Amino acid sequence: MQQNPLSTPIEYLNGVGPQRGDMLRKELRMFTYGDLLHLFPNRYIDKTKYFKINEVSPNTSDVQIVGRLVGLQDVKQKRGSRLVGTFVDDTGQIDLVWFRATTWLKKNLKINQVYVIFGKVTKFGITLNMAHPEMELLEEHKRNLRTAMQAVYPSTEKLSKANFTSRTMSRIVQALFYQLGSGRFRETLSQEIIDKHKLISKNDALFNIHFPVSQDFLSKAQFRLKFEELFYIQVELISKKLIRKNRLKSYVFENVGEHFNDFYNNHLPFTLTGAQKRVLKEIRKDTLQGEHMNRLIQGDVGSGKTIVAFMSMLIAIDNGYQATLMAPTSILATQHNEGISELVDKMDLRVELLTGATKTAKRRKIHEALLSGEIDILIGTHALIEDKVVYKNLGIAIIDEQHRFGVAQRAKLWKKNTLAPHVLVMTATPIPRTLAMSLYGDLDISVIDELPPGRKPIKTLHRYDSNRLRVFKFMKDEITKGRQIYVVYPLIEESEKMDYKDLMDGYESIDRYFPKPEYQISMVHGKMKPADKEYEMNRFVKGETQIMVATTVIEVGVNVPNASVMIIESSERFGLSQLHQLRGRVGRGGEQSYCILMTGVKLSSDSKTRLETMVRTNDGFEIADVDLKLRGPGDIMGTQQSGVLDMKIADIVKDSDILLLAREMALEILNDDPLLQKPENRPIWETYQNISKNKTMWGNIS
Ligand code: ADP
Ligand code: MG
Repeated sequence: MQQNPLSTPIEYLNGVGPQRGDMLRKELRMFTYGDLLHLFPNRYIDKTKYFKINEVSPNTSDVQIVGRLVGLQDVKQKRGSRLVGTFVDDTGQIDLVWFRATTWLKKNLKINQVYVIFGKVTKFGITLNMAHPEMELLEEHKRNLRTAMQAVYPSTEKLSKANFTSRTMSRIVQALFYQLGSGRFRETLSQEIIDKHKLISKNDALFNIHFPVSQDFLSKAQFRLKFEELFYIQVELISKKLIRKNRLKSYVFENVGEHFNDFYNNHLPFTLTGAQKRVLKEIRKDTLQGEHMNRLIQGDVGSGKTIVAFMSMLIAIDNGYQATLMAPTSILATQHNEGISELVDKMDLRVELLTGATKTAKRRKIHEALLSGEIDILIGTHALIEDKVVYKNLGIAIIDEQHRFGVAQRAKLWKKNTLAPHVLVMTATPIPRTLAMSLYGDLDISVIDELPPGRKPIKTLHRYDSNRLRVFKFMKDEITKGRQIYVVYPLIEESEKMDYKDLMDGYESIDRYFPKPEYQISMVHGKMKPADKEYEMNRFVKGETQIMVATTVIEVGVNVPNASVMIIESSERFGLSQLHQLRGRVGRGGEQSYCILMTGVKLSSDSKTRLETMVRTNDGFEIADVDLKLRGPGDIMGTQQSGVLDMKIADIVKDSDILLLAREMALEILNDDPLLQKPENRPIWETYQNISKNKTMWGNIS
């Protein structure tokens, strides 16, 4: 049977066997030789240095000593027993201490032999100690593959309890290299890439990542393997995009016609920002190609995404198509409807709103008018994607605040016409470019990175709970000036009851301080019926109430330009992007706006960084960067499921430079040879096939 040796089950390897094999499978998910080969070390230790016992000071890690084991003794105590070994060299003595696996050790350790020990030195009373040292007979030590840097492998509690040390792992990997023979690893990148980026070979990289011959080779090995990992992720994303573009045809919007020009020349209430113009051009270009547009518009809150969406709809309409806009809540849909109805006021276009609350008779009329083509723009919630909703000729679908919709819901929109209508998704949750590249590789991305002119930046302040009365006073002053105020409480599931109590207590104290009838207060939280929620929210939108006490349900998109103060209670409990989203609810009118972050006195260092970042900047992209650094990519909204970030060696934050190189390279190659069929790209094609095959294999298992 001629099989790839890398798929050999791990227990067949010298020094593994059934028991350790079982442990490796369970603890580290290592099933095959190949898995082991790709178990990359966490860090490296300099093992060329040997210490004398009189040279070491207590509390130093990674100490290596050559000496003789001269005695072993069980020491029994109330709290359990330990095994103590006496270890000497010509300068002194150190105690070796074990609390576990003592029976095995007593059987296997050899008194009066020379060992090399390795571990952390501590001091107990006046004696030096090393607990659970790694030990090797000197002869064995000399025989083993010795490299300047000793790899430290990932481990688990169970592995270390079983005395399965990093050294053990290293020996097993060594056995693997012996068994496979060196020079056996096929090159997985093309010569062009290797030359261009001066990469070392796959063979050298794999050897040096486990057994670095020097710091220089280690760095080269790391670079090569990270590059490769990131490169193949990009190859996958870009290939998928090319395939989709080739297969998925869509409508051509040939003309910029009557409505667009009329609006642009006569009704546009302001001049577009440079960023808005650029994004519109990108959309225009997409819709001229006959390929399907699948574009994400990232723009901070208030950057003016709506007008860009609206003008894209006009292009569709001018070419004889209908347009639709889907929002995650009926409040948002209603606001969009009002805003867009106002924009089309002097134009001959029909806009309708369809939400769960639309009455049956009205609904029926909308269905008819949509099918006959009388409706040009349909705005709504997910009511829009129900099967009953049939368009005459839908040309473009716009989705606001995309992370609230699932992939399945989006896919339903694609089926609303013979060819898939163009899709534009808008999000106010900026994510850093490198992350976006990996997550949304199959989407084109536009960025509105410029706020409309004349906006007064929101002033953000951090205040302690003990200053609450002064904050209340400030609120009163703002209300006297005619402003409205949000007060937001956290609502996190684990402590729902407690949060609810906080919200109620907060409401009561505000109610006491801001008595009726002078002041009117709205309250909205997740436990309310949708209709009640909507009612309360609308009172605030209409200006009937001055204060909105709420949980984070108000986070998404609501637009009340007269609201100029956002107070966030227990703000240390919010994530950065959420804080930024909440802050974006104010600063929408002409008045100076404020965001006040309330906290207790005890703050973790991460909380402090979050608060300082909020106070320092209003820039959503800068905030997203800090957020990514604080939380790591795995926790950023929605990325957990993507699998794209499940990397063995590269780190999307730390290795963003390599990511950019890898992406550029992948683009260059795929643009020239989309199916990787040129002979020089053969190694890439083969590796890519292999990776895809393995992915589906694991996919089937888990
Ligand atoms: P978001 O990107 O958060 O959805 P909106 O589209 O709601 O932002 O726009 C926020 C506000 O800015 C709206 O009141 C809109 O009319 C206004 N606006 C948008 N573009 C401009 C511009 N170029 N100049 C001035 N005001 C603008
Ligand atoms: Mg918006």
